[in-house]
Amino acid sequence: MNPDLQTLIELQHLDTAIAGLEAEIQSLPRKIAEVESQLSEHIQAVEASKKHLAENQRGRRKREIEIAALRDKISHYKDQTFQVKTNEQYKALLHEVEFHEAAIRKLEDEMLVEMIDSEAMEKQLREAERSLAEERTRTERDIAAARQRQQQDESELKEAQTRRAEIQGRLAAPVYETYERIARFRKGLAVSEVRDGTCGACHVRLRPQAYAEVRTNAHIAVCESCARILYSAPEPVTE
Ligand SMILES: [Zn+2]
Repeated sequence: MNPDLQTLIELQHLDTAIAGLEAEIQSLPRKIAEVESQLSEHIQAVEASKKHLAENQRGRRKREIEIAALRDKISHYKDQTFQVKTNEQYKALLHEVEFHEAAIRKLEDEMLVEMIDSEAMEKQLREAERSLAEERTRTERDIAAARQRQQQDESELKEAQTRRAEIQGRLAAPVYETYERIARFRKGLAVSEVRDGTCGACHVRLRPQAYAEVRTNAHIAVCESCARILYSAPEPVTE
């Protein structure tokens, strides 16, 4: 194989790896921010549930106090029934008693609904707290892993860039500049493998003469369709 072509293939592999590392390094802080914001959303949801439950409990205590006050009034009316002189007054007091008893029943019904709600809320809150604790652990682990990955990527990137400079040094300036120019226009992919007579990047079939030449890997040839540098992989061994 032409030594320049060999070097260009190596350079392309390395540049693809570098692009992958750079993309991952860029994406990691966003990934960390995402899991952090998800966790904080869930923390807020649990806090809201706690507040809701506390409101429910406050409502019940308020009704308990109201009921106690109504009972006091009822016992006061009942005491008065012993002192009334007329049947009319007696009836009026009984009416008051009934009226306040009805109010108590209404409050008790409301409390029952609140109690049922509160049981469901407590159960939900316990589950939410348990899953939040798990999420906290998971998030911390994910963030630590992402930070470690980032460090590893950065050190791999540094190594790759050192290696790249070394590879670049093996190429004559015009050859390297051709590679760079194609890479710039072709989203970083300047070298393409030919498979079964077709350019692996643009998938256009080569003319037979061009294909025959590429198969020798003796010169630097470019795809007539996408202008990428072509090379041919060794023929697969057939039975
Ligand atoms: Zn092509």
